[in-house]
Amino acid sequence: MQTIADRLNSAQKGIDQAANNAHRPPKSVKLLAVSKTKPVSDIIEAYEAGQRRFGENYVQEGVEKVQELSHLENIEWHMIGPIQSNKTKVVAEHFDWVQSVDREKIARRLSEQRPESMPPLNVCIQVNIDDEDSKSGVALSELDALVTFIESQERLILRGLMAIPKANPSKEQQRASLTQLKELFDHYHTSLSNFDTLSVGMSSDMGEAIQHGSTMVRIGTAIFGKRN
Ligand SMILES: *Cc1c(COP(=O)(O)O)cnc(C)c1O
Repeated sequence: MQTIADRLNSAQKGIDQAANNAHRPPKSVKLLAVSKTKPVSDIIEAYEAGQRRFGENYVQEGVEKVQELSHLENIEWHMIGPIQSNKTKVVAEHFDWVQSVDREKIARRLSEQRPESMPPLNVCIQVNIDDEDSKSGVALSELDALVTFIESQERLILRGLMAIPKANPSKEQQRASLTQLKELFDHYHTSLSNFDTLSVGMSSDMGEAIQHGSTMVRIGTAIFGKRN
């Protein structure tokens, strides 16, 4: 049976291969291990295999894991799921990154509630790239205003964009969405100094995402196995 360490290793090899195919340096794509619904023992196994960056979707579950694993040095926690405004405080108090910011209200509260004792919170704006009713994320028409707003928030550092493209797209549609995302990223990357992250690509579409400039892939199933 494959261990978590084996699967992490394969995922990393897959990233390096995809980066190589895209003529990009392997270190230009970071791996976020998405541990939602998985026990802390799995996270420890991945940590011991060298993984430091972990993503969680659900606030309550994520906060519990952050607290339970606070003894692990240099571990980096990313919130990647939707956040209700009554949950911003615990998120601001426990996470290093929030990738799922999609409106002013959430951004303002995260900034106000980020403890003074912690460094500023890294955030990405989640973009609803395929304009799906079912998806969180800011509409493209409102992206510019949200970028400006977050840049004005004292306790936030705007790091980039996050997106979850449509599931099972045609090849053309997938390419069009990823291309548009990359163009948006490049636009802000040239003018904002900390804007260095394009978080796109999961277990099933990692190769295409890296081909289109992803700097961070979020991998769950391929590392931790299927979720119940
Ligand atoms: C669950 C999840 C992932 C990981 O998906 P896999 O298909 O298991 O790799 C990535 N990003 C987000 C936002 C998720 O919710």
